[in-house]
Amino acid sequence: NRQWVLNQRPNGAPTPDDFKLVESDIPSLNEGEVLLKTRYLSLDPYMRGRMSDAPSYAPSLNIGEVIVGGTVSEVVESKNPKFAKGDRVLAGSGWQEYEVSDGTGLMLVEGLPEPSYALSLMGMPGFTAYHGLLNIGEPKPGETVVVASASGAVGSVVGQIAKLKGCRVVGITSGGKKQQYVKDTLGFDESLDRHSPNFEAELAKAAPDGIDVYYENVGGAVFDAVLPLLNDFARIPVCGVIAHYNATELPQGPDRVPMLAGMILRKRIRMQGFIIMDHYETGYAPFAKEMTQWLKAGQIRIKEDRVQGFEAAPEAFIGLLEGKNFGKVVVDFGA
Ligand code: NDP
Repeated sequence: NRQWVLNQRPNGAPTPDDFKLVESDIPSLNEGEVLLKTRYLSLDPYMRGRMSDAPSYAPSLNIGEVIVGGTVSEVVESKNPKFAKGDRVLAGSGWQEYEVSDGTGLMLVEGLPEPSYALSLMGMPGFTAYHGLLNIGEPKPGETVVVASASGAVGSVVGQIAKLKGCRVVGITSGGKKQQYVKDTLGFDESLDRHSPNFEAELAKAAPDGIDVYYENVGGAVFDAVLPLLNDFARIPVCGVIAHYNATELPQGPDRVPMLAGMILRKRIRMQGFIIMDHYETGYAPFAKEMTQWLKAGQIRIKEDRVQGFEAAPEAFIGLLEGKNFGKVVVDFGA
């Protein structure tokens, strides 16, 4: 059983030395348990937080612990009457080839165009997009919605849902094929390159009526450009701030909290953070119902960035935090 464990905590951007490949025997089963073989591993930005020992909403990994992660796994042996050999399940086996589970929390994966959709459109990132946009962003038809990392797992779904709700949608991404994909394939109204030297002016031009919903995925320079364009009563679901995940200290410069607080007050802005894990019990079923309808009707799509092989996980994860991914990163462990 090959496993990727945390070798040392990253200092800034993770490096290959922060991960260690270890091998152990495939565990044997007790009554009530199943043996899971990982087929697909989801790579997600939150894993960077788990590698750190800074306080967060979830406990840090210990050194030597298998890196956490959502998986689509196959039941290869079962001593649990609820699961049969060959079943595909959504599990949280993490960065390893095999895991023994007593069945708690496993969900059967069936009826999807691709089993890996359980990790993307129909899974955690899709649900994150849906919940943050609709329940916190509360977009109304005709309003302007802006989202960054717009070709990625969460951002691409945010923009497509906002279009389905009748909004004007501006996606921010890296230039080239990502920028083209967001406009031409996903059908956003505008798609901008966050690296452009004229980015601020381009954003102002793309949002001539101001911004009503800014779905925050990134923070950093994008947030700075969005701020002056926010309308009165704008909503900001704070989903993530990936631009800061590798930071080792606060940015230099003046304290801007008073400016930000003053703007939130004057413009009556609502800014609310959320962690999707809090919302599964009540929110997942309505999300799954509506998303299934959109998917069946061909109204929504997801681009997966498939990475081949267990060995490739660390490099793909490092790339994800640098924006090297194009779509939802899924590691295919092979048969
Ligand atoms: P993505 O598939 O969007 O991949 C990450 C993307 O972030 C990169 O491709 C890049 O996109 C962008 N990026 C990287 N560095 C920067 C930077 N310095 N400034 C701006 N953009 C940058 O990842 P996900 O869709 O999985 O995650 C998107 C966000 O959602 C993350 O912040 C994540 O932490 C958050 N999240 C939060 C959850 C919650 O419960 N609150 C749950 C799931 C995700 P590009 O090249 O297009 O700019």
